Amino acid sequence: MGKVRLSVDLDDTLAGTIEEWIKEASAKLGREIKREELTEYHLENVVDLDRETIIGIFKNVWGHYENVPLIDPYIPRTIEDLGSAFEIFIITAAVGKKEEVVAWLNKYGIKYDKLIMVEHAKDKLTLSEEYNIPIFVDDNPILADMAISSNKKIVMIKKPWNLKFIDEHASDNLFAVSDWKEAEAVLRKISESMDN
Ligand SMILES: [Mg+2]
Repeated sequence: MGKVRLSVDLDDTLAGTIEEWIKEASAKLGREIKREELTEYHLENVVDLDRETIIGIFKNVWGHYENVPLIDPYIPRTIEDLGSAFEIFIITAAVGKKEEVVAWLNKYGIKYDKLIMVEHAKDKLTLSEEYNIPIFVDDNPILADMAISSNKKIVMIKKPWNLKFIDEHASDNLFAVSDWKEAEAVLRKISESMDN
């Protein structure tokens, strides 16, 4: 059997975009936003900024992609190792320009097979049907809900904005993990079970 295809998200799954966003948004608001406050995926519901401003800050963060950290230092190695079992699709609705995203991935030497930038999270699901991708790694609870309903698997790294979803949605297709080390272990198990 060939490699299983894997859809890997960018913002806050590989790239610590939110860390830079918090800095800029805090400066704009004139108070320090704490990560734990961000208990909703749609940040306008928890922070006193409108959608346009929120997106504008994300665009600005990607404009300075060189400041965006990896969420885990061992991601490049982990992704490379996973490449033996998976075809790695990075599918992202990030608002950065493609050249910024590519430069960021290159900066950290992240090896992937295909990069696809989409408008909305729901486009990831459409693409997963088109490309026959059975598994996502993503922090977005809205995508997770759609993925589970479509009988796709999703590995979610726990974030303040997806804990409630994880709590309320026990599913054989939902794998909540603390970091990429755990994600890798879960993905290996899934790939073994798909081989049989
Ligand atoms: Mg994300």
